[in-house]
Amino acid sequence: LFGDKRLNAKGWDITDPVEFAALDAARSKFSGDYKWNFALDAALGEKGTVQKLVNPANPQDHVGEIANATPAAVAKAVELAAKGQKTWGTKAPSERAAALRKAADLYEEHAAELFALASREAGKSLLDGIAEVREAVDFLRFYANEAERLGEQDDARGVIGCISPWNFPLAIFTGQVAAALVAGNAVVAKPAEQSPLMGARAVELLHEAGVPKDALILVPGAGDIGAALTSQPNLGGVCFTGSTEVAKLIDKQLAKTADSDAMLIAETGGLNAMIVDSTALPEQAIRDILASSFQSAGQRCSALRMLYVQEDVADHVLEMLYGGLDAMQVGNPWDLATDVGPVIDAEAQKDISDYCATLTNEGRLLKKINAPKEGHFVEPHIFKVSGIEELEREVFGPVLHVATFKARDINKVVDAVNAKGFGLTFGLHTRMDNRVEAIGKRIKVGNFYVNRNQIGAIVGSQPFGGEGFSGTGPKAGGPNYLPRFRVAKRAHEIA
Ligand code: NAP
Repeated sequence: LFGDKRLNAKGWDITDPVEFAALDAARSKFSGDYKWNFALDAALGEKGTVQKLVNPANPQDHVGEIANATPAAVAKAVELAAKGQKTWGTKAPSERAAALRKAADLYEEHAAELFALASREAGKSLLDGIAEVREAVDFLRFYANEAERLGEQDDARGVIGCISPWNFPLAIFTGQVAAALVAGNAVVAKPAEQSPLMGARAVELLHEAGVPKDALILVPGAGDIGAALTSQPNLGGVCFTGSTEVAKLIDKQLAKTADSDAMLIAETGGLNAMIVDSTALPEQAIRDILASSFQSAGQRCSALRMLYVQEDVADHVLEMLYGGLDAMQVGNPWDLATDVGPVIDAEAQKDISDYCATLTNEGRLLKKINAPKEGHFVEPHIFKVSGIEELEREVFGPVLHVATFKARDINKVVDAVNAKGFGLTFGLHTRMDNRVEAIGKRIKVGNFYVNRNQIGAIVGSQPFGGEGFSGTGPKAGGPNYLPRFRVAKRAHEIA
């Protein structure tokens, strides 16, 4: 149902049976008995617990293991990276950019392996896996170009702590690390505890591409390792993507321990809405609602949570929406017929299922479809609410809330969305140009999508990021991102 099936000119076209068979064969190399095993860099000293990773679609499938860092290893990593930065930071931007471009080539060369790992470790559907690798490659090439465009008129910040979420375990991990590195910083990177193998593989490929081992160090582990990283006194800054709650903790921590000029980029959660008015094309709106709410099992920061349909067309639009949901398939992420894969782990499955049970008990269920009983699957649900005021938090799964509105109240809807304080994505389906202009001015979000789905920004042409509780501003994949990783030249160097 969803999306673009091509990686790019060099990639896989999985609509071609011959290419799909080749991809499937490549994948089998990375399944079954093949064990991923990543050890902590010996230079960091004693390693922490060894963590086993399983496939969210089939928890019996052991994907691999990783040796986690300890807080002492994190301190050591920052110390080593500070030394590494002294050499890496003096290289010409074009030399650092060349390493990123080489890494982009390596990611493409290893695309099948990366799709397989995205599917097995993070439960990504094949289409989502392709989009993930493509976005990571795009970040590498885009930031390489940006570094050359900006040149050397200012300084690197030093060591940047990069902390990333599991829902884009390759693309967001790579985007953060690539931007920090190409700007001349060293990086200590903490992947999410649910998806460290993907981060570890990215680091291996970046090292192979010429990034020195002491300029990029991986510190896998849970939230305490992230906290240990952000409490290091000598950081030049932190680049974080994840929940709004953790961003606030990091902000407080940096205020206590870091230099006053240390930077914080935080890209966080959303409570994203869409309006469908009576002039919208229903078929197109339905396709875009389904993709925005349920693709990636709703595990996207940009995903649609709150749909407003104009009262006059609501019966028709909702009937079509239920029909569309019925046509969707939840299951094995590697199966081409699958639209919705698993959620990330048992904890997420329980949290989302409990939420759905509560709303169902309150009599709000409009529609749901079945999901497999084995594995960490959640049944996609649609619930009736009166408006976004009722949503207390971001529920990170395949759950859509729907309300209707009267034509004369459309501005009130936009104001209610703004009043929640999040500002990531907003969708509008309408055929009225003046409405696009008026709502575009009124809505306070980073990314405003008209007559299309509201997920899947393209690096370079659709910079992505939010405002308010959704982020600190400099959009990833845009021209204002890289300069945040540099500071004006220190006075003694100018003199
Ligand atoms: P999360 O729980 O906030 O975790 C993000 C990262 O922070 C993980 O690596 C996590 O480690 C680490 N962490 C946890 N506690 C920490 C602490 N006290 N100090 C430092 N680091 C800490 O978010 P998530 O569940 O991985 O990801 C989903 C969230 O990310 C959603 O809210 C989604 O909207 C948001 N997101 C935003 C964007 C965007 O561009 N705006 C993109 C993708 C996702 P552990 O995993 O080990 O706990």
